[in-house]
Amino acid sequence: MSVTVVGSIAFDAVKTPFGERERMLGGAAVHFALAASFFDEVRVVGPVGDDFGDAELDVLRRRGVDVSDVEHVAGGETFFWAGEYGWDLNSRETLETRLGVFEHFEPKLSLAARESEVLFLANIQPDLQRAVRAQCTGARFAALDSMNLWIEIARESLVQTIGTVDCLVLNDAELRQLTGRPNTLSAAREVLGWGPPGPASIIAKQGEYGAALITSDGYFSLPAFPLETVVDPTGAGDTFAGGFVGYIAAHDSDALDNGLLRRAMAYGTALASFNVEEFGTERVARLTGEEIAERVRELERVTHFNDAPIALRG
Ligand code: AMP
Repeated sequence: MSVTVVGSIAFDAVKTPFGERERMLGGAAVHFALAASFFDEVRVVGPVGDDFGDAELDVLRRRGVDVSDVEHVAGGETFFWAGEYGWDLNSRETLETRLGVFEHFEPKLSLAARESEVLFLANIQPDLQRAVRAQCTGARFAALDSMNLWIEIARESLVQTIGTVDCLVLNDAELRQLTGRPNTLSAAREVLGWGPPGPASIIAKQGEYGAALITSDGYFSLPAFPLETVVDPTGAGDTFAGGFVGYIAAHDSDALDNGLLRRAMAYGTALASFNVEEFGTERVARLTGEEIAERVRELERVTHFNDAPIALRG
């Protein structure tokens, strides 16, 4: 089995209270691919410019990611994003976005990418996401992420694209913005009704508070892995998605039930916790499977409790 991901492949300039990087490898598809590479074969689809070289591709190649669908656009500039975080890392301001080669990108997927069984439409213009979705006719599981920018300037296209996937992964505030509903749970329930056939599961990402899973017959919530030091949250959502979708991809489709989705969330949560410990892709690029497994076990321990019912007054 294999996972195909389309989304931004980027250079990021990031400033947090703990330091800064003027130009580092980033992009939603890159963060996703590195995380998903612990579970399955991953192919990245997307354009890069002349400024993107072998050193950047090698970060992906070293994790076994297939980069043959990364298109080099001669004369173009790679997608660039600059952002700055507030003192507690909960607020982020986008300082600059330069679409570069994404502006005129027309995805043309290789046969292997089109035949992937699992597809992740990472954050990028929703028309592009839909063009990729339409080519991946064999995908048995497709998930999508997006952001406030596209809700603001391309909402209709985004709604249409959401109708073509099985799972929507979105920040809780964006889920509320998308639906105009002030409550995350009711917003998720509304999206579950979009289609046809529309998503059967919604992940509401809640930053340092973790993530919630909403399906037509279930609800599950996991906190983030408890960390005392967070250096750079950039890409945490995409890394979570890579762990989540990667775990699903590593299992047969008839195993896809609420239990599997919950376990997938635990792996996504563990992966995301490593991502935020250092800038950009730095930590995940040298992560080991054993380190991930250890954090999943620890997460299981800290979220488990045994009820001992007592007689309640009233
Ligand atoms: P996250 O922190 O999970 O929201 O993802 C951050 C990554 O998203 C960064 O590496 C950026 O390169 C990328 N990014 C930021 N803005 C956009 C955008 N408008 N479209 C696509 N990717 C973006």
